[in-house]
Amino acid sequence: MVVRVLFRAVIMGPPGSGKGTVSDRIVKSFGLKHLSSGDVLRANMKSQSEIGLLVKSYIDQGQLVPDDVISRLILGDLKHLENCSWLLDGFPRTVTQAESLHQAYHIDTVINLDVPFETIKERLTSRWVHPASGRVYNTNFNPPKIPGLDNITGEPLVQRNDDKPETVTKRLKAYETQTKPVLEYYSHSSDLVSDIANHCMFSRAHIFKIEDYKELFAEYNDRDETFCIRCAID
Ligand code: ADP
Repeated sequence: MVVRVLFRAVIMGPPGSGKGTVSDRIVKSFGLKHLSSGDVLRANMKSQSEIGLLVKSYIDQGQLVPDDVISRLILGDLKHLENCSWLLDGFPRTVTQAESLHQAYHIDTVINLDVPFETIKERLTSRWVHPASGRVYNTNFNPPKIPGLDNITGEPLVQRNDDKPETVTKRLKAYETQTKPVLEYYSHSSDLVSDIANHCMFSRAHIFKIEDYKELFAEYNDRDETFCIRCAID
């Protein structure tokens, strides 16, 4: 009999921690499905579904979508991934959401991108964009040839409202208030999740290398054409 091991992970990290990039590489390298709550919400808004119209009002005001709404959406989507290993990104963001996820699924590991806030602030506030094309520059490691101007058109670069120092500070504070309790929930809850989460949480400062994650996704088989992934506990 072929044993099929499903691997279920959650990735957490403040805005600007590189969560998108890291998630992309993990799902590609380890053959996981990627479910991002932000993407799910944007797809609902785009289709102008009833729920899409409801969540838009919250998102436009920079507020979190109510727990029952987002939990229903995400758990509904996960039902379509019953036989898959997956990486959940952006959910859970509150303890209530973590509890509803816990009632439905066993989570094998929680990856916490623990990037110092000072690093994030520096990273985000040094980002400048050319609004017409969306070209992105970084004054530290990818500066424009002429300071403040787009390389191709010579037009002025702007800083996104979201990337202005005062806004970045606010976003980081909000993340800390909302998310710390979720990390604590995973670290201290009394069952298997906490053991695995404790062992697997780790810090990444600047550079992400897929090798760093190999230990985390240690046992990897593709028997029966199925990806079988287990978390390394030691
Ligand atoms: P960001 O990381 O900048 O918040 P996302 O793409 O993850 O961007 O999410 C966009 C918006 O969708 C959030 O600002 C929030 O309003 C809403 N959202 C996403 N995930 C959740 C969640 N788990 N709970 C509540 N609201 C959420």
